[in-house]
Amino acid sequence: MAMEGALKYALNSREIKKFLLEWGATLVGFGDVSQGLAGELRHLPVAISLAIRHPSPGRNLIHTPRGPVYSNRYQQVDSKLEQMQKRLVSLLKSRGYRCLAIPPDSHRHDTRFVARLYPLFPHKTAATCAGLGWIGKNGLLVNETWGPRLSWATVLTNAPLEVCTTPYVSGRCGRCRRCVEACPAGAIADREWVQDEGLVPHIDVEACRRQLERNRLLVGEDICGLCILACPRGMYDQAGTIKRKGDVRWPG
Ligand code: SF4
Ligand code: SF4
Repeated sequence: MAMEGALKYALNSREIKKFLLEWGATLVGFGDVSQGLAGELRHLPVAISLAIRHPSPGRNLIHTPRGPVYSNRYQQVDSKLEQMQKRLVSLLKSRGYRCLAIPPDSHRHDTRFVARLYPLFPHKTAATCAGLGWIGKNGLLVNETWGPRLSWATVLTNAPLEVCTTPYVSGRCGRCRRCVEACPAGAIADREWVQDEGLVPHIDVEACRRQLERNRLLVGEDICGLCILACPRGMYDQAGTIKRKGDVRWPG
């Protein structure tokens, strides 16, 4: 027991962050998510939130006669996040802690018993509590540096890690309404997210779904993504000019 205690002491947030950045994460944060956790997860009050930035759109951006459509599904990025989660889970378990990895695409069909727990905890909760981003008017996690062009994953744990003391509790979109204007379905309301109202963004989900179906007839996939393409966060420097090619998160 003394050895286990010593090992537990040795593992801290800084050390975990260093590992995850070395393994390829773009962002890593730690949040206290004990408030409002589902009963099944209450024994895991700390969320480790990690994200990888998206590559340039490439084939995920399709030009159509009606304008571009974009898919933010990057299978390779998701696979890399899952590999990092596996390594992190091994590390935490080797130190005697309990943990649960919520995969990037937590809504995909998964028949495993553990998958029933995934919908109980959204990545948005982890990232906002970890101070890594807010929920934009477009309903996506928006990071100050990278905008909404990130894929996210979460590991919940009972390790007593140092957590963020400045979580996001409201949106930072301000007067920006680019996604509101870009949405062809008129599905995005010009309303800022507030944590007290929960994680539900002000999106007309049905209108968005109908647009995705229309696009499926057009390009063969139920994608749209114009609210991601439109977001200026992460694309401009402090002087308001677009970052140099290479520094631009995309489009470049
Ligand atoms: S995906 Fe398209 S239709 Fe849906 S909210 Fe974003 S811009 Fe609107
Ligand atoms: S486009 Fe503007 S309003 Fe929409 S999520 Fe990005 S910053 Fe917020």
